[in-house]
Amino acid sequence: MKFIQPTSWPEALEARAMYPEAVAVAGGTDVLVELNFDRLRPSALLDLGRVRELATWGGEDGHIRIGAGVTYRELIANLARDLPALAMAARTVGSPPIRNRGTIGGNLGSASPAGDCHPPLLAAEAEVELASTKRSRIVPMTEFFVGPKRNVLEADELIAAVWVPVTTGPQVFSKVGTRNAMVIAVCSFALALHPDKQRVGTGIGSAGPVPLRADAAERFLEGHLEETGSWGSRAPLSDSVLERFGELVAKASRPIDDVRASAAYRRRALAVLGRRALSWCWEEYREARP
Ligand SMILES: Cc1cc2nc3c(=O)[nH]c(=O)nc-3n(C[C@H](O)[C@H](O)[C@H](O)COP(=O)(O)OP(=O)(O)OC[C@H]3O[C@@H](n4cnc5c(N)ncnc54)[C@H](O)[C@@H]3O)c2cc1C
Repeated sequence: MKFIQPTSWPEALEARAMYPEAVAVAGGTDVLVELNFDRLRPSALLDLGRVRELATWGGEDGHIRIGAGVTYRELIANLARDLPALAMAARTVGSPPIRNRGTIGGNLGSASPAGDCHPPLLAAEAEVELASTKRSRIVPMTEFFVGPKRNVLEADELIAAVWVPVTTGPQVFSKVGTRNAMVIAVCSFALALHPDKQRVGTGIGSAGPVPLRADAAERFLEGHLEETGSWGSRAPLSDSVLERFGELVAKASRPIDDVRASAAYRRRALAVLGRRALSWCWEEYREARP
């Protein structure tokens, strides 16, 4: 097996163009499992671990740009204030060794419907930056996943970064699993309130072929907040609004029965996660009254 180890981003893109059959490796926490179980036997590995440009983050144009090689540990340590739901999701990933190695780009690269970064990135209206030697393009999170474990990446492309708008309102992420750590989500849900745009963002994980947004739930809540002037008044939300929001979140899911849970359980759990997420976020919004 050929092992290619670029030390800069231009070199990495050259290598990607030259060896389109090579499997990219960042932290290796997904790739190494595939190799160990003999589900993957590539002719070449393209190790991105020495590409420093991928491991950086910073603010640009009202967004935070997170390099694809930023690990969960770094997300938790450095971005919890600006991107709270993403940091909450990162805290639930695997164990400390997995959080030290695993990267946001690797989560997107694997494109598992259960990937924990995906719901908060969807809710935050993030975009993914892809690059090749020929071009660079920005893909909204809503268009990035095309099927279970499949994304829009072309053979000559790498994930460069994720662009997330700077948070202006509260965000939460919650995940149901069979225990508190080292667990793949049975289902998960993220909510972000965007008071500056008077918009609501959602993301559902592990309850469909791809991570999903709950569009009807977003429209329902946006409509309610606008009609009642609640973005401005920050009046409490009634139980019926919380319930309805949860129901619409559950309705947006497309779960299956599998070893982790039944589809019916996932729908039920999402209704609860949706209702709770909204009550937490709205309380935080009320308490942050200027
Ligand atoms: C014990 C254990 C527990 C885990 N727990 C969780 C969990 O709780 N939640 C969760 O979401 N995941 C979990 N995972 C899965 C894994 O840790 C995450 O998906 C992680 O984000 C993968 O990142 P990585 O850098 O290790 O990716 P890698 O394994 O290096 O790569 C994963 C995929 O992404 C591609 N890739 C990586 N970087 C790039 C790039 N820059 N451009 C293009 N393609 C790229 C690779 O080719 C590969 O297809 C767990 C894994 C293990 C082994």
